[in-house]
Amino acid sequence: MRHFAVVGSGPAGFYTAEALEKAYGEKARIDILDRYPVPYGLIRFGVAPDHQSLKAVSKRYDKVAESAGVDFIGNVCVGLDVSVAELLEHYDAVILAIGAPNDRKLGIPGEDLPGVIGSAQFVGWYNGHPDFADLDPPLDGTHAAVIGAGNVALDCARILSKTRHEFEGSDIVGHALEALEKSAIRTVTILGRRGPHQIAMTPKELGELGHLEESVPVVDMADFPPVEADAPLEPGLRKSVTLLRGFADFEPNKAKTMVFDFFARPVAIEGDGKAERIIVEKTELDEKGAARGTGETYEVPATLVVTAIGYSTPPMEGVAYDERGTKFLNENGRIADRLYAVGWARRGPTGTIGTNRPDGYEVADQHVATIPAGSAGDRPGAEGLKRLLAERGVMPTDYDDWRKIEQTEVANARAGSPREKFVRHAEWLQAIGR
Ligand SMILES: Cc1cc2nc3c(=O)[nH]c(=O)nc-3n(C[C@H](O)[C@H](O)[C@H](O)COP(=O)(O)OP(=O)(O)OC[C@H]3O[C@@H](n4cnc5c(N)ncnc54)[C@H](O)[C@@H]3O)c2cc1C
Repeated sequence: MRHFAVVGSGPAGFYTAEALEKAYGEKARIDILDRYPVPYGLIRFGVAPDHQSLKAVSKRYDKVAESAGVDFIGNVCVGLDVSVAELLEHYDAVILAIGAPNDRKLGIPGEDLPGVIGSAQFVGWYNGHPDFADLDPPLDGTHAAVIGAGNVALDCARILSKTRHEFEGSDIVGHALEALEKSAIRTVTILGRRGPHQIAMTPKELGELGHLEESVPVVDMADFPPVEADAPLEPGLRKSVTLLRGFADFEPNKAKTMVFDFFARPVAIEGDGKAERIIVEKTELDEKGAARGTGETYEVPATLVVTAIGYSTPPMEGVAYDERGTKFLNENGRIADRLYAVGWARRGPTGTIGTNRPDGYEVADQHVATIPAGSAGDRPGAEGLKRLLAERGVMPTDYDDWRKIEQTEVANARAGSPREKFVRHAEWLQAIGR
């Protein structure tokens, strides 16, 4: 019997378990470990609460978790409760699927002022991540800014702009819904270092902005190249740029605006003990298409600043780390003998949910290829791991426990919502009688 430990129960972890099960069938036991008793990673804590159809991918992951060769071992933090080296002693291979949970820093003066919040924190707050339940973002000012030109920036700006009514059917957590309803924010400025042709925003996410109840998107046509320049763009990007151009025809006739400010590089955040304004330098594209400062600066008022400029994977003891790319150092997913990385921990924080799928299949193929014919694994797998955890007083949870948590969250849902998530670790444990 081969024993595999997949660390992380986000998309990459589940796709890897699925691939290993397909490759090995009954000859493998696959344990998916997670630091939390709740699975799905960013499907639960990242994907926007008003995009429920995307969250339905978890049904596919449920099937993997319920298959005979796969177990979920929750409430175990690798690196804290057990080391990667110890996992390698117990398992034939260890696959790190821990994602990239840390916000990248802007590296500008003033970014540590109160009111400046990374998108992992802000998104975690409205999605019920236990680390950010007490974030309390300042929503009492009239101006907010989101720094970044991707879909996460759009998610943050949209959530800040929606009415309570528009959150119907979503699973935004109660504390965020209440706070956003009282929000005084009327202008959300989205700052992108480069121009409309360099965005990483997709048509679906941009299209939604044209239909918000109380907010109108605003663009400055001076930021756009002539329309003929759109022709060579890749079709998805061309569609996004066309949507953006269309915003120029919108009347600013609603209570709120969402202002797209392109060629805008934040150089400092200032304020009296808290964020009040961003100092922005106007940029232009250099010959390589990178943003080059022009020296011209201006101020964007913002008492809430959300940075959505990417994420990094935290280093783990004994695991090679790519300091530049902020992910594990790997070659096609292989970090070292019997140690692999998949998903954002392998590639960095880019792509969609489905982009993570091939990673797991590649690891399964690689592992199969490196096993000498006829050799049998003699490592103890979960049995040994659970003994070790018991010695340390760590009490893992299983998929039945998750089901109980899920049932309680569904039962607690407010009218029209699929669930009311627990937002604290202790509440999860309480729901399973711990
Ligand atoms: C705000 C946001 C919105 C997004 N929206 C979309 C969208 O609309 N559509 C789309 O296609 N994609 C979206 N994505 C991208 C998608 O979520 C990612 O591609 C995907 O989640 C990456 O999968 P992963 O498994 O690598 O990481 P994750 O999903 O982050 O999963 C990592 C897992 O590892 C666990 N873990 C971390 N550290 C440890 C540890 N030390 N020990 C044990 N377990 C650990 C975590 O608890 C988590 O369960 C979004 C991403 C973000 C950030």
